[in-house]
Amino acid sequence: MNILITGGTGFLGANLCHRLIQQGHKIICLDNGYTGRESNIKDLFSNNNFSFIKHDICEPLSLDGKLDQIYNLACPASPPAYQGKHAIRTTKTSVLGAINMLELAKKHNATILQASTSEVYGDPLEHPQKETYRGNVNPIGIRACYDEGKRCAESLFFDYHRHEEVDIKVIRIFNTYGPYMDPNDGRVVSNFICQALSGKDITIYGDGSQTRSFCYVDDLIDIMIMVMNSSKDFQGPINTGNPGEFTVKELAEKIIHKINSKSKIIYKDLPLDDPSQRRPDITLAKNKFGWEPKVNLDNGLDKTIEYFKTCIKNFKG
Ligand code: NAD
Ligand code: UDP
Repeated sequence: MNILITGGTGFLGANLCHRLIQQGHKIICLDNGYTGRESNIKDLFSNNNFSFIKHDICEPLSLDGKLDQIYNLACPASPPAYQGKHAIRTTKTSVLGAINMLELAKKHNATILQASTSEVYGDPLEHPQKETYRGNVNPIGIRACYDEGKRCAESLFFDYHRHEEVDIKVIRIFNTYGPYMDPNDGRVVSNFICQALSGKDITIYGDGSQTRSFCYVDDLIDIMIMVMNSSKDFQGPINTGNPGEFTVKELAEKIIHKINSKSKIIYKDLPLDDPSQRRPDITLAKNKFGWEPKVNLDNGLDKTIEYFKTCIKNFKG
């Protein structure tokens, strides 16, 4: 198949490019280089089935030839990358980007998958979160550019499906980690591993009692591809994540122990609106696709630590 991956040089995009190239597809990787790194896909440049376009999805895109599928992954995912002075750009990427990619899908009669997020549930009052939960999002807070941007993108996807007959899929991704993450990305797994490897202080925000559920990237890519290739009558939304739930403090202690690091834990202010808990209910994914994560946190962290050892010299701390 001819497949477009937006955000293809980022963490998930690079993993997806590699998997789909291995499966023999023709891949067009698109990225504007904001949080992605071309080094993540440099080994694919020599492959005849692979091409790269530098483009910002906030601008319309037209492509010649046949396009079968679009994975819309373009959007910064790390809070420091999507907040602050980048907030407006984040909303534009989610909303204008969704419109532009949905128009492209419509023109090519292609199936389009949206990388949505557990953030649509905000700071959830229902636990674990089912797809039916409508969320608890602060619409004017510092995370809103991402949370509300992604919620609006979901709404656009379903309206293009209802009114324009576009074949859509929406997955709600929970915290995912693994190789091809940028050491300087600022998310908790990359920060803690890189801090522990370089002997720097481990920065826990708040008291570390907030929880997250961490999914190893290979498991996520498996279900992402299954959903993309599911029957036309399935649109989602579907939770994709690992239901194992850990406090941020437990994660820090685990990583320090695994690396046998001399780093000490320090506590910093909890960012505003930081969700206090998050765990996916994956009953739908289990029942519909027979999918559940295969890699537990211990094994996933071991693989991720090995990856970060290869690029720890790039960590700025
Ligand atoms: P990432 O920041 O590593 O990758 C995002 C990619 O999108 C980068 O390569 C970036 O340069 C590119 N990009 C950003 N804005 C763009 C634009 N306007 N035009 C073109 N390219 C643009 O993040 P990731 O972890 O790989 O996340 C990929 C997608 O999955 C995102 O949409 C994110 O919201 C979603 N998601 C990820 C997670 C996770 O835990 N990794 C969780 C929930 C949702
Ligand atoms: N966090 C932390 N120290 C860090 C980075 C993040 O304590 O160096 C916390 C953050 O406040 C949040 C959790 O870890 O409670 C997960 O953060 P991340 O940025 O990875 O993703 P989020 O789920 O918040 O989008």
